[in-house]
Amino acid sequence: MQYQTTLRDAIAFEGAGLHTGAPARVRVLPAPAGHGLRFRLNDAVEFPARGDYVVETVRATVLGCGEHRVSTVEHLLSALLGCGVDNALIAVDGPEIPVADGSAKVFADAVEAVGLATLHEPRIRWIPTEPRVFRDGDKLLIVAPASSFRVRMTVDYPAPIGAQYVEAEIAPESYVREVAPNRTFGFLHEVEALVRRGLAQGGTLENAVVFGPDGPLTPLRDPNEPARHKILDLVGDFALLGAYPQCEVIAIKSGHKLHCTAVRELRRHGDGESTAVSATS
Ligand SMILES: [Zn+2]
Repeated sequence: MQYQTTLRDAIAFEGAGLHTGAPARVRVLPAPAGHGLRFRLNDAVEFPARGDYVVETVRATVLGCGEHRVSTVEHLLSALLGCGVDNALIAVDGPEIPVADGSAKVFADAVEAVGLATLHEPRIRWIPTEPRVFRDGDKLLIVAPASSFRVRMTVDYPAPIGAQYVEAEIAPESYVREVAPNRTFGFLHEVEALVRRGLAQGGTLENAVVFGPDGPLTPLRDPNEPARHKILDLVGDFALLGAYPQCEVIAIKSGHKLHCTAVRELRRHGDGESTAVSATS
């Protein structure tokens, strides 16, 4: 039997968001069993971290409730799910989660530093009952039953990134080592276009990998850092299932839009969300 967890103590982050460049303050607070991951925005509204609250998926996953919005939730949610945090209240003052170093490392390190408290309720898992396939043009996502949460990611970008394939087991130890440190990325020619559209206002060479025609402008943390970052993003989006995923995800060129469409569909379909006895009992 695996039990639910929460943080042993509150953790906090401050800084500018990647897309808006606006400052924000985030506190992640311990919460009781059954609470799940929930957002409180500007001390005004509170809602569960679930697919129903996704309001935008262009370049980042944006959640909203009423007139309140919070952008770029995926890296923080990825760190919480990846580190095995079932219950927490995420209190945000500002329009966007701080970008930190463009990865989930700062968030995962903070979770590891305070540690997890075990609660006396079984973990609530989301388990698919049959394989499901989601497509959007040449993007593909397959979600299938499995004994744990695993992701296989294929990306295929223009040079110099090219095609990359990475698979990862999403369990705290491997997540912290193989997924969390990989940074968001873009092409030099895209960065200008993003800035023109009012995005990437907080982007610098310290919080994103920028690829020029001949390669990355700063050293990579892993040869497959782009594909690993896409796994990081996928884990964050799958946190919006509202329960701990127990499934294998095969993703080809997928992004926030397809992830969030799948999460909403899977929740609507009624597959899963159940308290299950762990295979590792
Ligand atoms: Zn990302």
